Amino acid sequence: MEKTRIIKQIKDNGVVGAGGAGFPAYFKLSSSADTVIANAAECEPLLYSDKELLRRHPEEFIKGLQLAVQLTGASRGIIAIKGKYKDIISTLEKFLSSELEIFRLPDAYPVGDEQVLVWETLKRIVPEGGIPINVGVVVQNAATLYNIYNAVEKNLPVIKKFVTVTGAVEKPFVAEVALGTEISKLIEFAGGVKKELNNRFEILEGGPMTGKLVPLNHPVSKTTGGVIVFPENHYIIHQLRSRASVIIKKAQSFCCMCRSCTEVCPRYLIGHNMKPDQIMKSVSILNELDTRAFLCCECGLCEVYACPLDLSPRLVARQIKAQLLEKGIKNPHHTIPGNVHSVREFRQIPSNRLIMKANLQKYNQTPESITSPILPDSVSIFLQQHIGVPAKSVVKVGEKVREGQVIARVDENSLGADIHSSISGTVVEVNDKLINIKK
Ligand code: SF4
Ligand code: SF4
Repeated sequence: MEKTRIIKQIKDNGVVGAGGAGFPAYFKLSSSADTVIANAAECEPLLYSDKELLRRHPEEFIKGLQLAVQLTGASRGIIAIKGKYKDIISTLEKFLSSELEIFRLPDAYPVGDEQVLVWETLKRIVPEGGIPINVGVVVQNAATLYNIYNAVEKNLPVIKKFVTVTGAVEKPFVAEVALGTEISKLIEFAGGVKKELNNRFEILEGGPMTGKLVPLNHPVSKTTGGVIVFPENHYIIHQLRSRASVIIKKAQSFCCMCRSCTEVCPRYLIGHNMKPDQIMKSVSILNELDTRAFLCCECGLCEVYACPLDLSPRLVARQIKAQLLEKGIKNPHHTIPGNVHSVREFRQIPSNRLIMKANLQKYNQTPESITSPILPDSVSIFLQQHIGVPAKSVVKVGEKVREGQVIARVDENSLGADIHSSISGTVVEVNDKLINIKK
């Protein structure tokens, strides 16, 4: 099949980056690169979704990577996975072809961050404010590559997602879940929230370091990797509920400029001019907006791991970015660092230390693997599960749809991804955010 037809098939089947913000896969694969990195790091604590996929579908994942290598014209594909997953590595090794290799990552956080990953595997530094293609690399998440295989070889759209449901639930599990499944149904499937919480809990979509708070009726989307239930007084929840205005006031009164946040910041350590202590100084003492906030990847290490005073440079950086964008100011930092910080190697944060620091030991358990997919009686499917413009519904209330049918499209010339129904049923609601379908 020629490149344009394969790319179109990936686009038409709605494949987007499954491990991050949902960047449309066809767009990345239209670039030319010398290397494709399969991001199988899954470095957030408590999550097992990508590992489950790799255990169940190693061959399909490898074929997806081979396709990505061919499409970008790359000469090599690198599977970046933590060295500790020896069972997965030995399975993957059986399917490797000559252009593919495995790179064993350290068990540290955030090795799955794209810029950290590119340095770890290739010793190339992505410029400040840049993306891997600036140094000839395309990075695709493990689940995205599996979806690329399905789209190209089987013409299957993205309608399911591997999700880890864990935390304070009775029976943590990992399973393939129909897109649009409400989180309440997944928690029910996990035997419910632990009784000792007396219904005082919060839910995180994603990992404990970068996840966001969501309500019980929030549906699973193409980028959902995990659902974690925490007691409402857990440290992670407390940090997520903090408001930037309060953090700024706290910074004014007691940030001691100790630089602990900067010393562990992964962007500072790969040579970028990102200094979270200076970000705090800019808002607390200088009363100005430091444009280096644009260089923050929001990994959360400064807040969860480093700061002795529970301050959050991450939250302040996010707030500054929003204010700068409101004023029409874009990231002015694009320097290509000459080298990484000399002590970087010794400043990597081991996952087990992060788990202790974030008070996650209690939830650090291997979830049960559920082999049959979870297909509920009704789904609420978001029209925007990707970067770009939202898809527009092409179905009406009362219309019957079948599993895999396109229900929302993005204009041919806009960046985005089509949306497909994850179950067969009847459309019962269409609004500007989602389409609700009942069996
Ligand atoms: S969240 Fe903190 S540690 Fe992470 S990149 Fe931003 S400033 Fe650095
Ligand atoms: S670690 Fe905390 S106290 Fe120290 S400089 Fe950073 S924000 Fe301030």
